[in-house]
Amino acid sequence: MTNAVTNPKTREWQAMSREHHLAPFSDYQQLHEKGPRIITKADGVYLWDSEGHKILDGMAGLWCVAVGYGGEELVEAAAAQMRELPFYNTFFQTAHPPALELAKAIADVAPQGMNHVFFTGSGSEGNDTMLRMVRHYWACKGQPNKKVIISRHNGYHGSTVAGASLGGMKYMHEQGDLPIPGIVHIPQPYWFGEGGDMSPEEFGVWAADQLEKKILEVGEDNVAAFIAEPIQGAGGVIIPPETYWPRIREILAKYDILFVADEVICGFGRTGEWFGSDFYGNKPDLMTIAKGLTSGYVPMGGLIVSDKVFQVINAGGDFNHGFTYSGHPVAAAVGLANLRILKEEKILEKVREETAPYLQKRLRELADHPLVGEVRGVGMLGAIELAKNKQTRERFPSEMGVGMICRGHCFENGLIMRAVGDTMIIAPPLVISKDEIDELVEKARKCLDLTARGVLV
Ligand code: PMP
Repeated sequence: MTNAVTNPKTREWQAMSREHHLAPFSDYQQLHEKGPRIITKADGVYLWDSEGHKILDGMAGLWCVAVGYGGEELVEAAAAQMRELPFYNTFFQTAHPPALELAKAIADVAPQGMNHVFFTGSGSEGNDTMLRMVRHYWACKGQPNKKVIISRHNGYHGSTVAGASLGGMKYMHEQGDLPIPGIVHIPQPYWFGEGGDMSPEEFGVWAADQLEKKILEVGEDNVAAFIAEPIQGAGGVIIPPETYWPRIREILAKYDILFVADEVICGFGRTGEWFGSDFYGNKPDLMTIAKGLTSGYVPMGGLIVSDKVFQVINAGGDFNHGFTYSGHPVAAAVGLANLRILKEEKILEKVREETAPYLQKRLRELADHPLVGEVRGVGMLGAIELAKNKQTRERFPSEMGVGMICRGHCFENGLIMRAVGDTMIIAPPLVISKDEIDELVEKARKCLDLTARGVLV
C-alpha cells in the first residue's frame, strides 16, 4: 500500500478538506499538505479507503464500533424508527418508546442500584451533564460549597469546556484558558511512564494516595466528586497497577464525595464485562456512557445515575439541563438493537472467554521486540510501549516522533493502530475473530520491524 493517489475522486475530496473542512484535533497546514485518507466503506472489522486499500481497523472507529461494521439489524432499526417517529424531544413532560425502552435496557445491564439514565448526544455532553448534576445534588442536600471535582492528569473526558477541563490533557488546557475553576487534577496511575524506581504495586498505592492528599488539601466540604476512567483510553490505554483501585475504594469510603466512572470507552463490553467498573469491582455513583452504546452507528451518550443520587435530585425540583437530542428516537432505537445484539450473540461472553484472552496472549508476544518496552492490555484494549531501552524504560526523544512513524507504517500496511506519543494502542471491534487477531498482531510486528529499522541504531 502506498500514499499515491490514483483515484481522481480522492483528489476532489482532499480539495474539499483543504478548502472547507475543519477536522477535529488537527494541524490544518500539515493535514492539507498530505491530504486526509478518505475512508469510504466498511464491513466487519475492515475499512476501505477511496484508493481501494483494505485496512484492518484496530481502533473500532474511535473505540466505538463494538459489533463491527455492516450490522444490518442496526441499519434496519434506524430506518424503521425514522419512518415511525424520526424525532421528538423528551422535554416538557413528553417521551417516546425508544428512549424509555433504552433507559430500561441500560438499567438492566448497569451495576446494581444504578437505575436512572439521562441521555445526551455524546460522551462530552455526558460529562457536562455530570458536572451540573453533582453540583445540583450537593446544593439539594444543603451543601452548595461542595463543588470541586477531582480528576486526573492525562485522563480524557471530552472536548467541550467542561469535558476538556475535567480531562487532564495539557495540550487541551493550553488553548482557551482551561481548566475552568473548580476542577483540580491528581497524578495518573501510569507506572511505565511515571513509576520511577517504585514497583508497580508501590506506585499504584502512591498514585491512589494522591486522591486523599487532594481531598484534604481542597477540604472535604468543598469536594463534590472524583471522576476517573476505569482504564484511561485516550491517555494511552493505561491499566492501573493492581493495588490502585482497591486503595481508591478505601479512600472513597472515608470521605463523603461522589464517585464518577467515565465508562465512555470501557462501557458495553470492552473489558469483557458490561462496564469497566464491574471488571474492577468499583461502585460508582454515576457513570458516563457513549461510544459502544450505539456501536457508533449514530451519536449518543448519557449518564447513568444511582438510586442514591436520583433520590436527592428527585426531591430537588427541576433539573434545568437538557439537549434537543437527549434520547433521540433514532439513536435510542439503534442503541436498543445494539444491546440486543450484544446480549443475543453473547458477544461479551465470547470476548471474556475466548477472543480477549487470545488477543492478550498474542499481543504479549510482541514484548520480545527490540523496540518494545512493555505490552499491556485488558479485554479488547491493548497498548505497546515503544522505548529506547527496555530495561530502564528510557523513551526516544519526543521530536523523533517514533509513535507517529510506527502509525504511518501501520496505515501503509493495512492496519489502524493509534499512537499516543510513543504508545501504540488498539481497541478493535469486540467481534474480531481469532484469525483477524492473528492478522492484527502479524501486521503490528511487521510495522514494529519497519519502525525499528529507521530508529534503532
Ligand atoms: N470520555 C472518554 C473516556 C472518552 O474516551 C471520550 C471520547 N474519546 C469522551 C469522554 C468524549 O466523548 P465524545 O467524543 O463522544 O464527546
